[in-house]
Amino acid sequence: MAEQAKSGFMSWYFGTNLLIRIMAGLVLGAVVGIFMAFSASPETVASFVGYTKFFGDIFVNLLKMIVVPVIFLSLIAGAASITPGQLGRVGLKTLLYYLITSIISISIGLTVALLLQPGVGLGITGAEGIAGKAATAPPLSTVLLNIVPTNIIASLSKGDVLPIIFFALVFGISLAILRDNKDDHVSKYATMLYNLIATAAETMYLIVRGIMQYAPIGVFVLISVVFAQQGPKVIGPLVFLTLCVYLGLVLHLFVGYGAVLGVFKLSIFNFLRKGNEPPIMAFVTRSSSATLPVTMRVTEENLGVPRSISSFALPIGATVNMDGTAIYLAICTVFIGNAVGMPLQFDQLVTLTVVATLAAIGAAGVPGAGALMMLMVLEAIGMPVEAGSAVAAAYAMILGMDALFDMGRTCLNVTGDMIGVIAVSKSEGQLDTSKWQLPA
Ligand code: ASP
Repeated sequence: MAEQAKSGFMSWYFGTNLLIRIMAGLVLGAVVGIFMAFSASPETVASFVGYTKFFGDIFVNLLKMIVVPVIFLSLIAGAASITPGQLGRVGLKTLLYYLITSIISISIGLTVALLLQPGVGLGITGAEGIAGKAATAPPLSTVLLNIVPTNIIASLSKGDVLPIIFFALVFGISLAILRDNKDDHVSKYATMLYNLIATAAETMYLIVRGIMQYAPIGVFVLISVVFAQQGPKVIGPLVFLTLCVYLGLVLHLFVGYGAVLGVFKLSIFNFLRKGNEPPIMAFVTRSSSATLPVTMRVTEENLGVPRSISSFALPIGATVNMDGTAIYLAICTVFIGNAVGMPLQFDQLVTLTVVATLAAIGAAGVPGAGALMMLMVLEAIGMPVEAGSAVAAAYAMILGMDALFDMGRTCLNVTGDMIGVIAVSKSEGQLDTSKWQLPA
Protein backbone atom coordinates (compact mmCIF):
# COMPACT_ATOMS: atom_id res chain seq x y z
CA MET A 1 0.00 0.00 0.00
CA ALA A 2 2.72 2.41 1.09
CA GLU A 3 4.79 1.17 -1.83
CA GLN A 4 1.92 2.01 -4.15
CA ALA A 5 1.54 5.51 -2.77
CA LYS A 6 5.25 6.02 -3.11
CA SER A 7 5.37 4.96 -6.75
CA GLY A 8 2.28 7.10 -7.31
CA PHE A 9 4.14 10.12 -5.99
CA MET A 10 7.23 9.28 -8.02
CA SER A 11 5.32 8.91 -11.25
CA TRP A 12 3.41 12.10 -10.55
CA TYR A 13 6.66 13.90 -9.78
CA PHE A 14 8.56 12.78 -12.84
CA GLY A 15 5.48 12.91 -15.04
CA THR A 16 4.75 16.58 -14.35
CA ASN A 17 6.33 19.30 -16.46
CA LEU A 18 9.59 20.43 -14.82
CA LEU A 19 8.78 24.09 -15.22
CA ILE A 20 5.50 23.67 -13.39
CA ARG A 21 7.24 21.76 -10.62
CA ILE A 22 9.91 24.43 -10.18
CA MET A 23 7.26 27.15 -10.09
CA ALA A 24 5.29 25.04 -7.60
CA GLY A 25 8.46 24.70 -5.50
CA LEU A 26 8.89 28.46 -5.57
CA VAL A 27 5.29 29.25 -4.63
CA LEU A 28 5.07 26.56 -1.95
CA GLY A 29 8.43 27.62 -0.55
CA ALA A 30 7.23 31.22 -0.39
CA VAL A 31 3.95 30.21 1.29
CA VAL A 32 5.65 28.02 3.89
CA GLY A 33 8.32 30.67 4.49
CA ILE A 34 5.78 33.50 4.91
CA PHE A 35 3.72 31.32 7.23
CA MET A 36 6.79 30.70 9.36
CA ALA A 37 7.79 34.36 9.30
CA PHE A 38 4.41 35.37 10.71
CA SER A 39 3.57 32.57 13.07
CA ALA A 40 6.76 30.91 14.28
CA SER A 41 9.13 32.01 17.01
CA PRO A 42 12.70 32.83 16.01
CA GLU A 43 13.79 29.55 17.65
CA THR A 44 11.35 27.55 15.53
CA VAL A 45 12.55 29.34 12.38
CA ALA A 46 16.13 28.56 13.35
CA SER A 47 15.40 24.87 13.83
CA PHE A 48 13.38 24.77 10.57
CA VAL A 49 16.40 26.22 8.81
CA GLY A 50 18.65 23.72 10.58
CA TYR A 51 16.60 20.72 9.46
CA THR A 52 16.03 21.78 5.87
CA LYS A 53 19.40 23.37 5.15
CA PHE A 54 20.96 20.14 3.94
CA PHE A 55 18.41 19.75 1.15
CA GLY A 56 19.08 23.22 -0.18
CA ASP A 57 22.85 22.96 0.19
CA ILE A 58 22.99 19.73 -1.75
CA PHE A 59 21.27 21.46 -4.66
CA VAL A 60 23.87 24.25 -4.63
CA ASN A 61 26.64 21.64 -4.54
CA LEU A 62 25.15 19.70 -7.45
CA LEU A 63 25.05 22.86 -9.55
CA LYS A 64 28.60 23.76 -8.66
CA MET A 65 29.73 20.23 -9.49
CA ILE A 66 28.62 20.56 -13.06
CA VAL A 67 29.51 24.13 -13.95
CA VAL A 68 33.21 23.67 -14.81
CA PRO A 69 32.76 20.54 -16.96
CA VAL A 70 29.86 22.15 -18.81
CA ILE A 71 31.74 25.33 -19.64
CA PHE A 72 34.96 23.55 -20.51
CA LEU A 73 33.52 20.90 -22.78
CA SER A 74 30.81 22.93 -24.48
CA LEU A 75 33.20 25.77 -25.30
CA ILE A 76 35.76 23.43 -26.84
CA ALA A 77 33.01 21.69 -28.81
CA GLY A 78 31.55 25.05 -29.90
CA ALA A 79 34.88 26.56 -30.98
CA ALA A 80 35.98 23.38 -32.74
CA SER A 81 32.79 23.25 -34.78
CA ILE A 82 33.73 26.37 -36.75
CA THR A 83 35.66 25.39 -39.86
CA PRO A 84 38.55 27.78 -40.48
CA GLY A 85 37.43 28.14 -44.10
CA GLN A 86 34.29 29.84 -42.83
CA LEU A 87 36.35 32.38 -40.97
CA GLY A 88 36.68 34.58 -44.02
CA ARG A 89 35.40 38.13 -44.30
CA VAL A 90 31.80 37.14 -43.60
CA GLY A 91 32.89 35.10 -40.59
CA LEU A 92 34.92 37.93 -39.15
CA LYS A 93 32.09 40.40 -39.69
CA THR A 94 29.70 38.04 -37.94
CA LEU A 95 31.98 37.50 -34.97
CA LEU A 96 32.64 41.24 -34.72
CA TYR A 97 28.90 41.90 -34.74
CA TYR A 98 28.41 39.30 -31.98
CA LEU A 99 31.13 40.88 -29.86
CA ILE A 100 29.98 44.47 -30.33
CA THR A 101 26.31 43.73 -29.63
CA SER A 102 27.26 41.70 -26.56
CA ILE A 103 29.15 44.66 -25.15
CA ILE A 104 26.26 47.01 -26.00
CA SER A 105 23.81 44.68 -24.30
CA ILE A 106 25.87 44.51 -21.13
CA SER A 107 26.19 48.30 -21.11
CA ILE A 108 22.41 48.61 -21.42
CA GLY A 109 21.95 46.02 -18.68
CA LEU A 110 24.37 47.79 -16.38
CA THR A 111 22.84 51.20 -17.08
CA VAL A 112 19.37 49.94 -16.20
CA ALA A 113 20.68 48.16 -13.10
CA LEU A 114 22.75 51.08 -11.84
CA LEU A 115 19.99 53.62 -12.43
CA LEU A 116 17.21 51.56 -10.90
CA GLN A 117 19.31 49.63 -8.34
CA PRO A 118 17.13 46.51 -7.93
CA GLY A 119 17.61 44.68 -4.65
CA VAL A 120 18.72 47.67 -2.58
CA GLY A 121 17.66 47.36 1.05
CA LEU A 122 16.70 43.70 0.80
CA GLY A 123 19.32 42.76 3.37
CA ILE A 124 19.39 39.04 2.58
CA THR A 125 21.42 37.06 5.07
CA GLY A 126 22.68 33.52 4.82
CA ALA A 127 21.05 30.50 6.40
CA GLU A 128 23.60 30.78 9.15
CA GLY A 129 23.10 34.50 9.43
CA ILE A 130 26.41 35.32 7.83
CA ALA A 131 26.53 38.13 5.32
CA GLY A 132 28.30 36.09 2.68
CA LYS A 133 31.96 36.39 1.95
CA ALA A 134 33.40 39.86 1.95
CA ALA A 135 33.78 41.00 -1.64
CA THR A 136 37.47 41.10 -2.28
CA ALA A 137 37.48 41.40 -6.04
CA PRO A 138 40.99 41.59 -7.41
CA PRO A 139 41.98 44.72 -9.38
CA LEU A 140 41.17 44.71 -13.09
CA SER A 141 44.76 44.38 -14.31
CA THR A 142 45.14 41.23 -12.25
CA VAL A 143 41.83 39.90 -13.59
CA LEU A 144 43.03 40.44 -17.18
CA LEU A 145 46.43 38.92 -16.53
CA ASN A 146 44.89 35.94 -14.80
CA ILE A 147 42.77 35.16 -17.85
CA VAL A 148 45.83 33.38 -19.21
CA PRO A 149 46.31 30.27 -17.09
CA THR A 150 49.81 29.32 -16.01
CA ASN A 151 48.55 25.88 -15.09
CA ILE A 152 45.29 24.79 -16.67
CA ILE A 153 44.93 21.76 -14.38
CA ALA A 154 45.15 24.04 -11.36
CA SER A 155 42.57 26.39 -12.89
CA LEU A 156 40.23 23.48 -13.55
CA SER A 157 40.59 22.13 -10.03
CA LYS A 158 40.08 25.56 -8.46
CA GLY A 159 37.19 26.36 -10.79
CA ASP A 160 38.79 29.59 -12.08
CA VAL A 161 36.40 30.28 -14.88
CA LEU A 162 38.19 32.90 -16.96
CA PRO A 163 41.38 30.89 -17.55
CA ILE A 164 39.23 27.84 -18.23
CA ILE A 165 37.29 29.74 -20.89
CA PHE A 166 40.47 31.12 -22.42
CA PHE A 167 42.11 27.72 -22.64
CA ALA A 168 38.95 26.04 -23.96
CA LEU A 169 38.66 28.61 -26.76
CA VAL A 170 42.32 28.29 -27.75
CA PHE A 171 42.08 24.51 -27.65
CA GLY A 172 38.81 24.46 -29.60
CA ILE A 173 40.10 26.76 -32.35
CA SER A 174 43.31 24.73 -32.65
CA LEU A 175 41.27 21.55 -32.91
CA ALA A 176 39.16 23.18 -35.62
CA ILE A 177 42.33 23.95 -37.57
CA LEU A 178 43.57 20.37 -37.18
CA ARG A 179 40.23 19.00 -38.37
CA ASP A 180 40.83 20.91 -41.56
CA ASN A 181 44.36 19.52 -41.98
CA LYS A 182 45.34 18.27 -45.44
CA ASP A 183 46.80 15.11 -43.97
CA ASP A 184 43.85 12.70 -43.78
CA HIS A 185 45.35 10.90 -40.83
CA VAL A 186 45.55 14.09 -38.75
CA SER A 187 42.12 15.33 -39.72
CA LYS A 188 40.58 11.92 -39.02
CA TYR A 189 41.90 11.77 -35.47
CA ALA A 190 41.11 15.42 -34.85
CA THR A 191 37.53 14.79 -35.93
CA MET A 192 37.43 11.77 -33.68
CA LEU A 193 38.59 13.87 -30.73
CA TYR A 194 36.03 16.52 -31.62
CA ASN A 195 33.27 13.89 -31.65
CA LEU A 196 34.41 12.57 -28.29
CA ILE A 197 34.39 16.05 -26.75
CA ALA A 198 31.02 16.90 -28.30
CA THR A 199 29.61 13.67 -26.85
CA ALA A 200 31.13 14.45 -23.45
CA ALA A 201 29.46 17.89 -23.61
CA GLU A 202 26.14 16.23 -24.43
CA THR A 203 26.65 13.93 -21.44
CA MET A 204 27.11 16.96 -19.21
CA TYR A 205 23.84 18.44 -20.47
CA LEU A 206 22.16 15.16 -19.63
CA ILE A 207 23.54 15.43 -16.10
CA VAL A 208 22.28 19.02 -15.89
CA ARG A 209 18.85 17.82 -16.91
CA GLY A 210 19.08 15.17 -14.17
CA ILE A 211 20.10 17.74 -11.55
CA MET A 212 17.22 19.93 -12.62
CA GLN A 213 14.88 17.12 -11.62
CA TYR A 214 15.91 17.96 -8.07
CA ALA A 215 15.49 21.69 -8.63
CA PRO A 216 11.86 21.89 -7.44
CA ILE A 217 12.90 20.51 -4.03
CA GLY A 218 16.09 22.57 -3.87
CA VAL A 219 14.21 25.74 -4.81
CA PHE A 220 11.45 24.96 -2.32
CA VAL A 221 13.92 24.66 0.55
CA LEU A 222 16.08 27.63 -0.37
CA ILE A 223 13.08 29.89 -0.93
CA SER A 224 11.24 28.85 2.21
CA VAL A 225 14.36 29.67 4.22
CA VAL A 226 14.64 33.11 2.58
CA PHE A 227 11.00 33.93 3.24
CA ALA A 228 11.05 32.50 6.79
CA GLN A 229 13.99 34.72 7.61
CA GLN A 230 13.11 37.79 5.57
CA GLY A 231 9.34 37.65 5.46
CA PRO A 232 7.21 38.77 2.52
CA LYS A 233 9.25 41.94 2.08
CA VAL A 234 11.20 40.15 -0.68
CA ILE A 235 8.23 39.92 -3.10
CA GLY A 236 8.26 43.58 -4.14
CA PRO A 237 12.00 43.59 -4.96
CA LEU A 238 11.61 40.43 -7.06
CA VAL A 239 8.78 41.94 -9.11
CA PHE A 240 10.90 45.07 -9.53
CA LEU A 241 13.87 42.98 -10.66
CA THR A 242 11.71 41.28 -13.28
CA LEU A 243 10.60 44.67 -14.59
CA CYS A 244 14.22 45.85 -14.74
CA VAL A 245 15.32 42.80 -16.74
CA TYR A 246 12.46 43.17 -19.23
CA LEU A 247 13.14 46.89 -19.52
CA GLY A 248 16.75 46.10 -20.44
CA LEU A 249 15.63 43.55 -23.03
CA VAL A 250 13.11 45.90 -24.65
CA LEU A 251 15.60 48.78 -24.67
CA HIS A 252 18.17 46.65 -26.45
CA LEU A 253 15.59 45.55 -29.00
CA PHE A 254 14.55 49.07 -29.97
CA VAL A 255 17.72 51.06 -29.28
CA GLY A 256 20.48 48.51 -29.98
CA TYR A 257 18.94 46.51 -32.83
CA GLY A 258 16.94 49.49 -34.03
CA ALA A 259 20.24 51.33 -34.52
CA VAL A 260 21.94 48.39 -36.26
CA LEU A 261 19.07 48.09 -38.72
CA GLY A 262 18.90 51.89 -39.04
CA VAL A 263 22.53 51.95 -40.21
CA PHE A 264 21.43 49.71 -43.08
CA LYS A 265 18.25 51.72 -43.70
CA LEU A 266 16.00 48.93 -42.52
CA SER A 267 13.19 49.28 -40.02
CA ILE A 268 12.91 47.37 -36.76
CA PHE A 269 9.12 47.47 -37.11
CA ASN A 270 9.23 45.79 -40.53
CA PHE A 271 11.57 43.26 -39.02
CA LEU A 272 9.11 42.53 -36.23
CA ARG A 273 6.23 42.15 -38.69
CA LYS A 274 8.11 39.82 -41.03
CA GLY A 275 10.32 37.96 -38.61
CA ASN A 276 8.39 37.54 -35.37
CA GLU A 277 8.00 33.78 -35.54
CA PRO A 278 11.47 32.78 -34.21
CA PRO A 279 11.38 35.23 -31.26
CA ILE A 280 7.96 33.89 -30.30
CA MET A 281 9.18 30.30 -30.61
CA ALA A 282 12.20 31.21 -28.50
CA PHE A 283 9.97 32.75 -25.84
CA VAL A 284 7.97 29.55 -25.61
CA THR A 285 10.77 26.95 -25.90
CA ARG A 286 13.41 28.95 -23.97
CA SER A 287 16.02 27.44 -26.27
CA SER A 288 17.96 29.14 -29.06
CA SER A 289 19.08 25.76 -30.35
CA ALA A 290 15.57 24.32 -30.48
CA THR A 291 14.41 27.45 -32.31
CA LEU A 292 17.25 27.28 -34.86
CA PRO A 293 15.34 25.53 -37.67
CA VAL A 294 12.61 28.17 -37.48
CA THR A 295 15.18 30.97 -37.29
CA MET A 296 16.89 29.69 -40.45
CA ARG A 297 13.67 29.27 -42.40
CA VAL A 298 12.24 32.67 -41.49
CA THR A 299 15.43 34.66 -42.10
CA GLU A 300 15.76 33.04 -45.52
CA GLU A 301 12.12 33.01 -46.61
CA ASN A 302 10.73 36.16 -45.03
CA LEU A 303 13.77 38.39 -44.63
CA GLY A 304 15.84 37.61 -47.73
CA VAL A 305 19.05 36.35 -46.08
CA PRO A 306 21.03 34.06 -48.43
CA ARG A 307 21.50 30.49 -47.27
CA SER A 308 25.29 30.79 -47.62
CA ILE A 309 25.30 33.26 -44.73
CA SER A 310 22.43 31.97 -42.59
CA SER A 311 23.56 28.35 -42.66
CA PHE A 312 26.84 29.14 -41.01
CA ALA A 313 26.19 32.27 -38.96
CA LEU A 314 22.92 31.23 -37.33
CA PRO A 315 24.12 27.93 -35.79
CA ILE A 316 27.14 29.73 -34.34
CA GLY A 317 24.90 32.57 -33.17
CA ALA A 318 22.57 30.13 -31.43
CA THR A 319 25.46 28.96 -29.27
CA VAL A 320 27.65 32.02 -28.79
CA ASN A 321 25.58 35.15 -29.39
CA MET A 322 23.38 35.77 -26.38
CA ASP A 323 22.60 39.41 -25.81
CA GLY A 324 19.54 38.64 -23.70
CA THR A 325 21.59 36.41 -21.45
CA ALA A 326 24.22 39.13 -21.10
CA ILE A 327 21.58 41.67 -20.03
CA TYR A 328 20.09 39.21 -17.56
CA LEU A 329 23.52 38.44 -16.08
CA ALA A 330 24.41 42.12 -15.70
CA ILE A 331 21.15 43.13 -14.01
CA CYS A 332 20.79 40.09 -11.78
CA THR A 333 24.39 40.28 -10.58
CA VAL A 334 23.88 43.89 -9.54
CA PHE A 335 20.66 42.76 -7.83
CA ILE A 336 22.47 40.04 -5.87
CA GLY A 337 25.20 42.46 -4.78
CA ASN A 338 22.56 44.90 -3.56
CA ALA A 339 20.41 42.20 -1.99
CA VAL A 340 23.21 40.91 0.22
CA GLY A 341 24.32 44.42 1.14
CA MET A 342 27.52 44.36 -0.93
CA PRO A 343 26.83 46.73 -3.84
CA LEU A 344 29.27 46.14 -6.68
CA GLN A 345 32.35 48.37 -6.79
CA PHE A 346 33.78 49.86 -9.97
CA ASP A 347 36.38 47.13 -10.41
CA GLN A 348 33.72 44.48 -9.99
CA LEU A 349 31.54 46.17 -12.60
CA VAL A 350 34.39 46.14 -15.11
CA THR A 351 35.11 42.51 -14.34
CA LEU A 352 31.40 41.81 -14.65
CA THR A 353 31.42 43.30 -18.16
CA VAL A 354 34.25 41.03 -19.27
CA VAL A 355 32.93 37.93 -17.55
CA ALA A 356 29.30 38.38 -18.58
CA THR A 357 30.40 38.67 -22.22
CA LEU A 358 32.34 35.43 -21.90
CA ALA A 359 29.55 33.78 -19.93
CA ALA A 360 27.04 34.70 -22.62
CA ILE A 361 29.40 33.13 -25.17
CA GLY A 362 29.82 30.05 -22.99
CA ALA A 363 26.11 29.52 -22.30
CA ALA A 364 24.56 26.76 -24.37
CA GLY A 365 21.35 27.52 -26.27
CA VAL A 366 19.25 25.43 -23.94
CA PRO A 367 16.76 26.38 -21.21
CA GLY A 368 18.35 27.57 -18.00
CA ALA A 369 21.92 27.75 -19.31
CA GLY A 370 22.23 31.42 -18.38
CA ALA A 371 21.33 30.73 -14.77
CA LEU A 372 24.19 28.27 -14.55
CA MET A 373 26.54 30.89 -15.99
CA MET A 374 25.50 33.23 -13.22
CA LEU A 375 27.43 30.98 -10.81
CA MET A 376 30.67 31.66 -12.63
CA VAL A 377 30.01 35.39 -12.93
CA LEU A 378 29.47 35.61 -9.18
CA GLU A 379 32.63 33.60 -8.57
CA ALA A 380 34.67 35.87 -10.84
CA ILE A 381 33.59 39.08 -9.10
CA GLY A 382 34.47 37.71 -5.69
CA MET A 383 30.97 36.74 -4.51
CA PRO A 384 31.01 32.95 -4.76
CA VAL A 385 27.81 30.99 -4.18
CA GLU A 386 28.64 28.92 -1.14
CA ALA A 387 26.24 26.65 0.64
CA GLY A 388 24.55 28.55 3.45
CA SER A 389 25.78 32.00 2.38
CA ALA A 390 23.68 35.09 1.71
CA VAL A 391 24.77 35.04 -1.93
CA ALA A 392 23.39 31.50 -2.24
CA ALA A 393 20.06 32.62 -0.79
CA ALA A 394 19.81 35.56 -3.19
CA TYR A 395 20.83 33.34 -6.09
CA ALA A 396 18.12 30.85 -5.17
CA MET A 397 15.51 33.57 -5.38
CA ILE A 398 16.55 34.34 -8.94
CA LEU A 399 16.85 30.69 -9.86
CA GLY A 400 13.33 30.03 -8.64
CA MET A 401 12.04 32.53 -11.16
CA ASP A 402 14.44 31.61 -13.92
CA ALA A 403 11.77 30.45 -16.37
CA LEU A 404 10.36 33.96 -16.46
CA PHE A 405 13.75 35.51 -17.20
CA ASP A 406 14.71 32.74 -19.59
CA MET A 407 11.71 33.35 -21.85
CA GLY A 408 12.61 37.00 -22.30
CA ARG A 409 16.35 36.54 -22.68
CA THR A 410 16.05 33.65 -25.17
CA CYS A 411 13.63 35.76 -27.20
CA LEU A 412 16.24 38.52 -27.44
CA ASN A 413 19.07 36.04 -28.04
CA VAL A 414 17.35 34.72 -31.14
CA THR A 415 16.38 38.20 -32.31
CA GLY A 416 20.05 39.21 -32.03
CA ASP A 417 21.14 36.26 -34.17
CA MET A 418 18.63 37.26 -36.85
CA ILE A 419 19.64 40.92 -36.84
CA GLY A 420 23.27 39.78 -37.17
CA VAL A 421 22.76 37.77 -40.36
CA ILE A 422 20.60 40.55 -41.79
CA ALA A 423 23.30 43.17 -41.11
CA VAL A 424 26.09 41.00 -42.49
CA SER A 425 24.09 40.05 -45.61
CA LYS A 426 23.20 43.68 -46.26
CA SER A 427 26.80 44.82 -45.83
CA GLU A 428 27.81 42.17 -48.37
CA GLY A 429 25.13 43.39 -50.77
CA GLN A 430 23.43 40.02 -50.53
CA LEU A 431 20.17 40.83 -48.74
CA ASP A 432 17.03 40.45 -50.82
CA THR A 433 15.30 43.61 -49.60
CA SER A 434 12.27 43.03 -51.80
CA LYS A 435 11.17 40.61 -49.08
CA TRP A 436 11.02 43.52 -46.64
CA GLN A 437 8.29 45.35 -48.56
CA LEU A 438 5.00 45.21 -46.78
CA PRO A 439 1.89 44.45 -48.84
CA ALA A 440 0.25 47.75 -49.82
N1 ASP B 1 17.88 29.70 -22.80
C1 ASP B 1 18.83 30.60 -23.42
C2 ASP B 1 18.94 30.30 -24.89
O1 ASP B 1 18.67 29.22 -25.32
C3 ASP B 1 20.17 30.54 -22.78
C4 ASP B 1 20.07 31.03 -21.39
O2 ASP B 1 19.60 30.30 -20.51
O3 ASP B 1 20.47 32.18 -21.12
O4 ASP B 1 19.30 31.17 -25.65
